[in-house]
Amino acid sequence: MPDFQAILEHIYQDAVIASDKGTVASYIPELAHIDKNNFGIHLRTSDGNDYGVGNYNKPFSIQSISKVLALSKAIALIGEGTWKRIDVEPSGHPFNQLALLEIENGIPRNPLINSGAIVIADILISNLKNPKEDFLNYVRDLTGDETINFNKDVAHSEKVTGFKNYATANLLKSFNNLNNPVEDVLDFYFHQCAIEMTCQQLTKAFFFLANKGICMLNKTRLTKSQAKRINALMLTCGFYDEAGEFAFEVGLPGKSGVGGGIVALLPDHFVITTWAPGLNKKGNSKLGMLTLEQFTSKTKLSIF
Ligand code: GLN
Repeated sequence: MPDFQAILEHIYQDAVIASDKGTVASYIPELAHIDKNNFGIHLRTSDGNDYGVGNYNKPFSIQSISKVLALSKAIALIGEGTWKRIDVEPSGHPFNQLALLEIENGIPRNPLINSGAIVIADILISNLKNPKEDFLNYVRDLTGDETINFNKDVAHSEKVTGFKNYATANLLKSFNNLNNPVEDVLDFYFHQCAIEMTCQQLTKAFFFLANKGICMLNKTRLTKSQAKRINALMLTCGFYDEAGEFAFEVGLPGKSGVGGGIVALLPDHFVITTWAPGLNKKGNSKLGMLTLEQFTSKTKLSIF
């Protein structure tokens, strides 16, 4: 068994002195003031051991990482019906690209780009009684932590500047791939992205995907086959037009968010979360990607 704490500390020390820490996302104004020197890593192994370094207990905006949890909830609710409205192919384009959606008649390439996540939000609104509250409770329940909450300022900040997401939702609506009003779907979507969690909480929340669908509290959230499918989607689509690079460098299913978080996992072995708010040109955490590459190289633990 590798000495995980020593490996994390070593990687952390190397990464904090990096001269180029990337650029903090500023297109959501409320995220622009986050200090890019924040940096945390948290690891949980399947046998229940926890390891953390840096700011692994500081909450941050999970943004697109929420798309995996929303997808999991949608699949738990409507199963295979999900795939009537969304494809499962990598897009090879940025997360908010519109062109492909028009060419492909309103069927998003996958649920982890914005158009696909907006359709998932529509599914959740149609199937949950109190959508925002129920989804938040789902995330709290997965984590076993009642303190998790939305950052309403971040949700509002995206609401007043998210013109491209409005364009995407309207395009989906024009192709009859949105059943609820655009305003309602985006209000839900902006809130799910504005949930704040720590690295440690995210590691716990994603545990069921590394554990055949069974969460930290020993409840079955998905079947083994459904968990496998979500992991396959993270591997092929979790990093948009950098999914190939992540698979090549890191070799794990994972998901990033523009808040600077990345969650990655090796089924039956571990979940690891990094947070470093500076992003590269594709909108993925610069130090997070470097850290995870170092982690799988040093431990020799990846799916390949
Ligand atoms: N809320 C963000 C958006 O819709 C999420 C993007 C991301 O994290 N990649 O633009």
